[in-house]
Amino acid sequence: MALIVQKYGGTSVGTVEKIKTVAEKVKRFQANGDQVIVVVSAMSGETNRLLGLAAEVDETSPSPREMDVLVTTGEQVTIALLSMALHKIGVDARSYTGSQVRILTDHSHMKARIKRIDDERIRKDLDAGRVVVVAGFQGVDTDGNITTLGRGGSDTTAVALAAALKADECQIYTDVDGVYTTDPRVEPKARKLDRITFEEMLEMASLGSKVLQIRSVEFAGKYNVPLRVLSSFEEGEGTLITFEDTGVEQAKISGIAFSRDEAKLTIKGVPDEPGVAYKILGPIADANIEVDMIVQNISKDGTTDFTFTVHRNDYERAAAILTELTSTLGGEEIDGDDKIVKVSLVGVGMRSHAGIASTMFETLAREGINIRLISTSEIKVSVVVDEKYLELAVRSLHEAFNLAQDEVATVG
Ligand code: ASP
Ligand code: MG
Repeated sequence: MALIVQKYGGTSVGTVEKIKTVAEKVKRFQANGDQVIVVVSAMSGETNRLLGLAAEVDETSPSPREMDVLVTTGEQVTIALLSMALHKIGVDARSYTGSQVRILTDHSHMKARIKRIDDERIRKDLDAGRVVVVAGFQGVDTDGNITTLGRGGSDTTAVALAAALKADECQIYTDVDGVYTTDPRVEPKARKLDRITFEEMLEMASLGSKVLQIRSVEFAGKYNVPLRVLSSFEEGEGTLITFEDTGVEQAKISGIAFSRDEAKLTIKGVPDEPGVAYKILGPIADANIEVDMIVQNISKDGTTDFTFTVHRNDYERAAAILTELTSTLGGEEIDGDDKIVKVSLVGVGMRSHAGIASTMFETLAREGINIRLISTSEIKVSVVVDEKYLELAVRSLHEAFNLAQDEVATVG
């Protein structure tokens, strides 16, 4: 008998019909002798609808506490409907909101972190042969306030429950059948991966591959939760997220991630002296703007150019801060571009294979794509290129690293 945590995303519970389909699926697992905890998201579009209502009431600063009270209703609907659907087909089931389970979080509304999970009620139900249905994305703080875990947070609820109850597997059911070498909407030849390591998945998620909430991957890695991403609509093994590469010869590259939301800023001619990076990035950090890549040029005549990238939404604000800095710091001018994207090769195979970066640069050069910035880590090479080259860059790299599906032989 296995203990399985299953999470169904918004599209998987988007209609009453789909909720009934999920119930049938859950029933099959239970009939198999498994104990099942189900975590659900709100029906697709519902969280956005609720956020829209809030914006109609107060566009600028609705209370974060009340926002959480509002948006958690989405998941309260689906846990009840799914439990009813299970009853209807003869499965004993019980639903719980985050605060009923007691998924205890810190106090940060709309981006709370889980501190502890009381597993007593869940255990009792499981032992009594019930399916336990838990609302994703929500918890409660020590003062009894309802909290939420950030958009996409149901993934994290599922992983946290799996960790707390030492589940045998945490299955994330979604509208794709696994993790792909890249986004199939950009490269139709993208191939589903049977397995990917945690480190790679973390990079893919942080670089914009939206299959899993990044925090859920961090959580799973930290607590060794076996995680699998699979389709709610089709049969299949999905993608298993593993803790290490297992014997099989590791491909050099597992995937190509990209992010469209990038912008870069350069402050030119700043004095090349101790403390400059701090003087520039300090005010940026104080404004709560996250910086990704940072490049400082070799100095010429005692001055240097300093470049960094930020999320596109923060571009205007960051530019304004820099402009103000030039008066005190003595930079010459600010240069910026918010029509850039980041494309990254990800793979633990990079550790043992040389020449990945040069193949990448050669491929981009052949396509006439100018690289604006480069950064590397042990298992990743990222480049910033003009937005208009995104598709071309992804497809040519996909080809160069042989990531496509095995060619189907056609008989002429
Ligand atoms: N319903 C929430 C959202 O849309 C949480 C989730 O779906 O994971 O972000
Ligand atoms: Mg989601």
